[in-house]
Amino acid sequence: MTTTSLFTHTPHPSPKTAEERAVAMQNPGFGKVFTDHMVVMTWTEEKGWHKGEVKARAPFAIDPAASVLHYAQEIFEGMKAYRTKDGIVLFRPDQNASRMALSAERMAMPAIPEDLFIQAVEELVRVDADWVPEGDGSLYLRPFMFASENFLGVRPSLEYIFCVIASPVGAYFKGGYQAVTVWTSEHYTRAAPGGTGAAKCGGNYASSLVAQAEATKNGCDQVVFLDAVEHRWIEELGGMNVCFVMDDNTLVTPPLGGTILPGITRNSILTLAKEAGMKVEERPYSFEEWKNDAQSGKLRETFACGTAAVVAGIGTVRYRGGEFAIGNSGDGEVTAKLRAKLVGIQRGEVEDTHGWVRTVSL
Ligand SMILES: *Cc1c(COP(=O)(O)O)cnc(C)c1O
Repeated sequence: MTTTSLFTHTPHPSPKTAEERAVAMQNPGFGKVFTDHMVVMTWTEEKGWHKGEVKARAPFAIDPAASVLHYAQEIFEGMKAYRTKDGIVLFRPDQNASRMALSAERMAMPAIPEDLFIQAVEELVRVDADWVPEGDGSLYLRPFMFASENFLGVRPSLEYIFCVIASPVGAYFKGGYQAVTVWTSEHYTRAAPGGTGAAKCGGNYASSLVAQAEATKNGCDQVVFLDAVEHRWIEELGGMNVCFVMDDNTLVTPPLGGTILPGITRNSILTLAKEAGMKVEERPYSFEEWKNDAQSGKLRETFACGTAAVVAGIGTVRYRGGEFAIGNSGDGEVTAKLRAKLVGIQRGEVEDTHGWVRTVSL
């Protein structure tokens, strides 16, 4: 492949040494350790996307009037690079690219051409390839875009910055998979019809944090949001989609429709479930049904899915009126099988029959 790079390269003058890197990557946790470089690109009305740079990771100098700081025009993506026997790979980066374009459209921001998005991500993976962990860790990539015009008037910004940063992360579940406990928020909702629920924007997270704090206070790991109209239908977690496994080999998941983030993990799991002979139903599923089906045994398993945790079993559900357990409160059998298949594909250990895995040429 001989695409010429649209990015100028200014290597970090003093990158971490191999020893420093090894220490930093020993127990990285999530989103705390960062690689040496970043990719930055600027958009103006006049020039479009231009000035792509690969350079040392450093703070931005932001004017106090930059519109992102006031009106929150900001979107992002989350994806991972894995070290496999075939080299360093990305999982379905085209899907992140197209979702970023949809998020941009919803937030009145300029789209990044999909090939440019992928190129930017690959530039960073290439320059910081030594930061992709061995074993069950991965390099979490965070492309994001924000409004950078200095202007307090209310209208879409006329300038944007796109950036990609990277963070080596360990396995989400250390020492084996444990089912998580979720809190069902009765009061707070995440997204309303016509709102920004399907866009991956920081604002959705800002408004979910108070509910997450409520979950933590109630001894739960995550929040489950119900719909904003009837407070009845299950939507998703703060940053993960949710799937229900029934006793008749059916997998149920709430339908996309503007208030749910179209997860790439969700989409991949639905494909794998169909291939495994499961019946897949994208349909509204209420909290009442969830509770009754868990109690009757019709519901066998529930899991959350998203790039960070990949697939996480849900063992216990708490709400203001009480709590109920799902299955044996542990990691379910179907959950484990679907996860093994997906993780196997991502790590080059299971045949990739869908062309989901893309090797980064180093
Ligand atoms: C990113 C995200 C997901 C998961 O999407 P993946 O593409 O699977 O990582 C689910 N819900 C929300 C709200 C998200 O922001």
